[in-house]
Amino acid sequence: MTLKRTAEVVVIGAGIQGCSIAYNIAKSGLRNVVVLEKDTICSGSTGRCGAGIRAQWGTEMNCRFGLAAIEKFERLQEELGMDCDLHQGGYLVVAYRDSEFERLKESMRLQNSLGINTRVVSYAEAREICPGLSAEDAVGFTFHDRDGHADPFLTTFAYTEAARRLGVKFLRFTEVKAIKAVAGRVKGVETNRGDFDAPVVVNAAGGYAQHVAKMAGVDIPNFSERHEILITEPVEPGVCPPMLISFSGNFYIQQRPNGSMIGGCSPEGHPQDYGLGTSWNFLEAMSRTFVKLLPRARGIRVARQWSGLYNMTPDCQPILCESDDVKGFFLSCGYSGHGFMFGPISGELLAQQILGQKPRIPIGMLHYKRFERGELLVEPAVV
Ligand SMILES: Cc1cc2nc3c(=O)[nH]c(=O)nc-3n(C[C@H](O)[C@H](O)[C@H](O)COP(=O)(O)OP(=O)(O)OC[C@H]3O[C@@H](n4cnc5c(N)ncnc54)[C@H](O)[C@@H]3O)c2cc1C
Repeated sequence: MTLKRTAEVVVIGAGIQGCSIAYNIAKSGLRNVVVLEKDTICSGSTGRCGAGIRAQWGTEMNCRFGLAAIEKFERLQEELGMDCDLHQGGYLVVAYRDSEFERLKESMRLQNSLGINTRVVSYAEAREICPGLSAEDAVGFTFHDRDGHADPFLTTFAYTEAARRLGVKFLRFTEVKAIKAVAGRVKGVETNRGDFDAPVVVNAAGGYAQHVAKMAGVDIPNFSERHEILITEPVEPGVCPPMLISFSGNFYIQQRPNGSMIGGCSPEGHPQDYGLGTSWNFLEAMSRTFVKLLPRARGIRVARQWSGLYNMTPDCQPILCESDDVKGFFLSCGYSGHGFMFGPISGELLAQQILGQKPRIPIGMLHYKRFERGELLVEPAVV
C-alpha cells in the first residue's frame, strides 16, 4: 500500500477518542485525514474498558458531557449505520456512608437542574431494579435510567467504518516517533513507516499521551495507572441489569446481554506503570465483592481477567484543547476512567475546535494550562 505522505489532519491513536475525532472532522468536510495507530484499532484502553456510560456526575462539566454523550449513544446506530450494543439499564449508585449519600444527593440536585432525571431510590426499589442485589449495609442509592453501557469494540469500529466511508485512512502498526514543529507551529510527524506532513496533529494516544505530547515539546502532568477488570461465565440474565457502582465501596459491575458479568475496581496503591499484567489480589478481592453484592454469583467461574491503562490528570478530568505552545497541535487525553463514554461528544467538540468553529459545549476549562494556574476541576464521582 502506498502511504499518502501529506494530510490535512493526522490523528495519533485509534481508540475511541482518535476514531471519533477523525470521523467528526471528516463529517464536517475535511477528507484528507489519517489516523496513525502503533498497534491495532481499539487495542488500547478502549478495548479493555468496562464501557459504562453515565450522566451521574459531581461537576457541571461532566454532567453536561455525560448527558450529551448519552444523547449521542442513543442515536449512534442511526448516525454511524452500526449497532453499538447500547443497553440502558441505568446506573445504580450505592452509598455506604452518610456523608457520601449527602454528596450524591447534592450531585443529584445539580444533575436534575441540568435535565438529568436522577432520583433517590429505596433499598426495596433498588432490588426491583437489580434483582440480584444484596446491600443491607448501604445507606442509600441513586438511579438514572438513561445511563448504561455499550460494546466498546462495536462503538469504535462503527466510528472507524463511518470515517472510512468519508475517506479517512487508518494506518495500523504505524508508530509516531517524533513530531515536527517549526516556529511554534506543527508541521507533521515521523513514524516507523516514514514521515507525514500535516498542519494539524491530534494527540489521542491514551495511556501514552504524555510521551506523545513531549515529542512536540509540550509538558502535560498526565500519568498512567494500571486498572484490572474481569468477566465471569454467563449466569441467567436479569441478575444485574443496571451498572452497579460505588465510590466508597470501590466497585463497578455490569451484566452483559449474554449473562456474563464484568467488574472492576480502583487498584490498591494505584500502580503507575505501563505493564498490562493481572494479579491474584485483584481476582480475590473482586470475587469477594461479586459474591457479597450479588450472592447468586457464588460459585460461578471467572472466564478472564485483564488490565488496561487509566490516563490520569491531577483532577481526573481530561485535557481537550489546542496547545498554546505549538499551534496546530491538539490534545484529547487524560480521561481517567471515563474516556469511553465521553468519546462521542469529546470527538465532536474537538473537531469543531479544529475546524475553527465554536464547540457547542464550552471546553476552554479543559486546557492543560489549568494545572499551572491551579484551576483544578476536581470530580468526586470516580472509581
Ligand atoms: C479497566 C478499565 C475500565 C474502564 N471502564 C470505563 C468505563 O466503564 N467507562 C468509560 O467511559 N471509560 C472506562 N475506562 C476508561 C477508557 O477505557 C479510556 O478513558 C478510553 O478508552 C480512552 O480512549 P482513548 O482513545 O483516549 O485511548 P486508547 O483506547 O488507549 O487509544 C489510544 C491509542 O493510541 C495508540 N498510541 C499510543 N501511542 C502511539 C504512538 N506513538 N503512535 C501511534 N499510536 C499510538 C495506542 O496504541 C492506542 O491504541 C476504563 C479503562 C480501564 C483500563
